[in-house]
Amino acid sequence: MHLPVAFTAELQAQLGSQYTDFEAALSYLPPVSIRYNPAKVSASSRLQIGKSSPLLLAKEKGLGDEVLWHDHAFYLSTRPVFTLDPLFHAGAYYVQEASSMLVAHALAQVADLSKPLRVLDLCAAPGGKTTLLASRLHPDSLLVANEVIKSRVVILKENVQKWGHPNVHICHHDPEDLGRLEAFFDVILIDAPCSGEGLFRKDPAAINEWSPDNVQLCSARQKRILEAALPLLAPKGTLLYCTCTYNDTENQRSLDALTADADFEEQKIKLPESWGVTPKAVGYQCYPHRVRGEGFFFSVFRKKNVPRAAQRYDSLPKKGKEEGFKSCKRLHAKQTAEVARWLEKPDDFHFFIKPNGEVLAFLDSQLDDIRILDNLLFAKGLGLEMGEFKGNDFIPSHALALSTALSSQIPTLELTEGEALQFLKKENLLLDAPKGWLLVTYQELGLGWVKGLGNRLNNYLPKDWRIRMELPE
Ligand code: SAM
Repeated sequence: MHLPVAFTAELQAQLGSQYTDFEAALSYLPPVSIRYNPAKVSASSRLQIGKSSPLLLAKEKGLGDEVLWHDHAFYLSTRPVFTLDPLFHAGAYYVQEASSMLVAHALAQVADLSKPLRVLDLCAAPGGKTTLLASRLHPDSLLVANEVIKSRVVILKENVQKWGHPNVHICHHDPEDLGRLEAFFDVILIDAPCSGEGLFRKDPAAINEWSPDNVQLCSARQKRILEAALPLLAPKGTLLYCTCTYNDTENQRSLDALTADADFEEQKIKLPESWGVTPKAVGYQCYPHRVRGEGFFFSVFRKKNVPRAAQRYDSLPKKGKEEGFKSCKRLHAKQTAEVARWLEKPDDFHFFIKPNGEVLAFLDSQLDDIRILDNLLFAKGLGLEMGEFKGNDFIPSHALALSTALSSQIPTLELTEGEALQFLKKENLLLDAPKGWLLVTYQELGLGWVKGLGNRLNNYLPKDWRIRMELPE
């Protein structure tokens, strides 16, 4: 591995006598880790993934080793072709580099996760940390996943929908455009775009993109993102800032304004020695020769109880025909009855319809907050996409098939692994099945919809979600 000279010099200065071990670790294969979705996979059925998913744990004798700092995560001894595992498409697990899961450990130490919080994941695509947070937060928490780059919103949405939590909302804004949500969030996560030094081992292409100039550009961007984010945090709120780089210019220096700000105080996190995490002047660094994961930096700050900004949010109308929503209106009672039957606990939701006919479900516990987001955000995907009416027929959305809120009374069609892959390639399934909508499942987890027409089954997998690679014989 040819490392840039300036990078080597910086790391030698940071690590001193440990540098040789660090450089040696860069030549090892990166560990592969996955984090399962506790809303879809119970602790007992987790064992079944190992036993009956030959693609996922092909070479495993049982489960891999546990990730020490995350009770839902473990390492695999090889990297399988995840695309060929139907459970991956069902949102049973997320493939996530282990160091970055420390964010959940840090958050649990500083915030009360037993009560609903308003949380912003400001730089969210592809959604690894959004799904990490979703599994840790109280289910009534409002989790807003924002991504500024339009093309990356697609993969963010896909991963959020696979994870299946109805309390996650997506938006597509430059952080500087979110100023209307002043003092709104209890927690803000900034997983900042960075020079990616921590990924050199996993993604050697990152080495070619690295340059001292790019480090300076990243630092300037990080400072802008931080400056835009700080006013959005409520008094006593928590700010998590992380990067996947070792660079002090992007970690320490980008945080200079924050550490100098009297309204914020850094939070120290308890980290057992055995995890190998290195405390820095500000925050914590994972180096691959000490931590079983990739290079990662994280830091945690608490906003002091400075007087809260004037609450403009309470002035939005809550009653009346439109109920204060800007982009949708309440669904007609007759249609509500049809839609409600698709959810396990329909009374927990309110149903709205957009001008394009798309039906959305909003959690009752979040209705006021969603109203605020609807009024103050422009590019957004709020709530759970339920589907749309075509005449009197309700066509369920793919997001609904993957949602943890789906009713257990919906008829299902359990598929073998081969059939599941055929479905996921959007091929036709030649199976005997009753008429009407059926949730196709693999190991009892929803993969999508088919409609039985008597003599054939129509495959409703969205075209863009299909597996494009060839299936093995
Ligand atoms: N949090 C993600 C996860 O865990 O899967 C990874 C986030 S990645 C490190 C940083 C993200 O910031 C990218 O999706 C990138 O598109 C986005 N980004 C790039 N420029 C940005 C900017 N100026 N403001 C906010 N986000 C930006």
